[in-house]
Amino acid sequence: MNPQRRARVMFNFKALIEKHTDELAAMLSAEHGKVIGDSKGDIQRGLEVVEFCCGIPHALKGEYTQGAGPGIDVYSMRQPIGIGAGITPFNFPAMIPLWMGAVAVAVGNAFILKPSERAPTVPHRLGELFLEAGLPAGIFQVVNGDKEMVDAILDHPAIGAVSFVGSSDIAQYVYSRGVAAGKRMQAMGGAKNHGIVMPDADLDQVVNDVCGAAFGSAGERCMALPVVVPVGHETAEKLKAKLITAIEALKVGISTDGEAHFGPVVSALHKAKVEGWIQTAIDEGSELVIDGRNLVLQGHEGGYFVGPTLLDHVTRDMTSYKEEIFGPVLQIVRAKDFEEALELPSKHQYGNGVAIFTRNGNVAREFAARVNVGMVGINVPIPVPVAYHSFGGWKRSGFGDQNQYGMEGVRFWTKTKTVTARWPDGSADAGNAFIIPTMS
Ligand code: NAD
Repeated sequence: MNPQRRARVMFNFKALIEKHTDELAAMLSAEHGKVIGDSKGDIQRGLEVVEFCCGIPHALKGEYTQGAGPGIDVYSMRQPIGIGAGITPFNFPAMIPLWMGAVAVAVGNAFILKPSERAPTVPHRLGELFLEAGLPAGIFQVVNGDKEMVDAILDHPAIGAVSFVGSSDIAQYVYSRGVAAGKRMQAMGGAKNHGIVMPDADLDQVVNDVCGAAFGSAGERCMALPVVVPVGHETAEKLKAKLITAIEALKVGISTDGEAHFGPVVSALHKAKVEGWIQTAIDEGSELVIDGRNLVLQGHEGGYFVGPTLLDHVTRDMTSYKEEIFGPVLQIVRAKDFEEALELPSKHQYGNGVAIFTRNGNVAREFAARVNVGMVGINVPIPVPVAYHSFGGWKRSGFGDQNQYGMEGVRFWTKTKTVTARWPDGSADAGNAFIIPTMS
């Protein structure tokens, strides 16, 4: 298909996702547990990537230099890889498959999606909607499985590029194995995002933002904000008091409870893991301010609920600080000044996102320039870039050199071919000025 016809499929696909949003959101919440509002957000952020893909002909235009030598023109074009694959995590069953799958298909590839075995239903439904939108059968395929299927994808000689999103150890494994097999790879990993709170920040706004970013989706977001860093003792004390009030007002419920701020975590195993981290944090000497363990919801006694948890006096040597918890747990790490606050996320093993809350433009500007993290929010708690920019973290949050979606996604899913063409005009020395090393 030419690019414009592929774009038309994307327009149809966009309309179908909009038409089926309620159905997709209900399906997603029922399987995953996140509240309906969060499921709609999951779908909306994926939809925005599809909207970006509606303009794909523009993104695929190449470059052209007329007259690089006598009668010589140079041009480059972007050609699809051929067959690409995507391996996705459980936490965004709509958004992440669309980050990669929509772009891969829009630029002309066939794409095989291996969704999380813990949330495969919405990815399958998206495949059906793609067919209904006019995509030829086989161009967007969904296969089930876990490690065995992932390894089969990584080793398959016909697959030219693989995009992965998940936890860091597996991201690193997938990246290395794929590269060893000669594939183009990108692998996004885990995170531990910090929110720096300067003394001049609007604390009411900060508390509102931090509560949403730390506890929304039960903290199961790679762009969640599980660490808050107040700068100075006074900021820390005021922030802590306000956080306690706000957290006590949060409601945990089942996904269809319209008043619930967040739902259960994904599995019994994950609940045990999150509660284990809370215990580790206590054992390491941090102060348990609000304990979300052993939460039981009446009528849903078997549910994997963890209440919002707040820990204070967390320090950088604690493993509960160094590792990703991926649950509704907020840790306060106190910093004495701006330099210490800047150093914390900069030296952390993960470098996905970070946020600074301040009214001072110079401080924010300096922070954004110096911090060693891939995505920065200034008074924005979850700085997930819009679909026409690109998403990607640094350090152990991202392996490979191209980000997800936007123009970096277009580059990842295409190869550049550059043509140098000479059309002699018939004169004896035409082209001689264009010197290429030769034997003569
Ligand atoms: P996960 O690493 O357990 O699974 C991700 C994918 O890898 C799944 O499709 C799974 O089937 C597959 N997989 C699991 N074990 C494997 C193995 N041993 N070998 C090969 N493949 C394997 O991640 P998850 O629990 O589904 O998702 C949560 C994690 O994803 C968190 O660490 C979170 O921070 C991260 N995440 C990162 C981003 C990002 O963009 N950086 C976005 C969302 C989630």
